[in-house]
Amino acid sequence: MSLPMHRLTPLFDVDAIAGRVAALGRELREAHADHPLTVIVVLKGSFVFAADLVRALGDLDVRMEFLGVRSYEGTTSTGQVEITHDLRRSIAGEHCLVVEDIVDTGLTLRFLCDTLRQRDPASLSVATLLDKPSRRKVAFTPDHVGFTIPDAFVVGYGLDLDQRYRHLPYVAVYDPGHPESP
Ligand code: 5GP
Repeated sequence: MSLPMHRLTPLFDVDAIAGRVAALGRELREAHADHPLTVIVVLKGSFVFAADLVRALGDLDVRMEFLGVRSYEGTTSTGQVEITHDLRRSIAGEHCLVVEDIVDTGLTLRFLCDTLRQRDPASLSVATLLDKPSRRKVAFTPDHVGFTIPDAFVVGYGLDLDQRYRHLPYVAVYDPGHPESP
């Protein structure tokens, strides 16, 4: 059985994403030219973005870590944030970059950044593929943003709806349509 693709309206295609990822890579290479960088990938949504972004970091001295977070169910935020898979080592004294798929209410990154700052990194910054500033419930400004988008639910390029659509190579707006339609 195939996915209901008629519910998708493409927003950013493969080329647009590649262009922004390359630009973010240049930004990050400049910002972190003088020190090693610990990249903290927030699972699951950012795995595709992070895979492309780290390959745009050139000759930076990069270490990769993965952190699992759960903060969403279906298309509505629960407002609850839980670390489902924590870092396995200390980040004290390290320059850290958190890589996230999307900032929506800001609750996840506010919680994550507060938690990680207590572990005394030398610096902590955030790169997100997408930013939906109109949806903020808590003040949060990511340091590096791929695209700023309006209030819409998007899928693809790592972003899911109930674990589906993550594998699409582009970002699309998902329209749930009528419950009775296929
Ligand atoms: P926040 O805590 O900022 O409200 O939400 C962050 C998380 O909510 C993201 O990491 C992502 O998993 C999920 N999220 C927020 N907006 C969207 C969206 O438009 N599409 C998808 N697929 N997930 C979203």
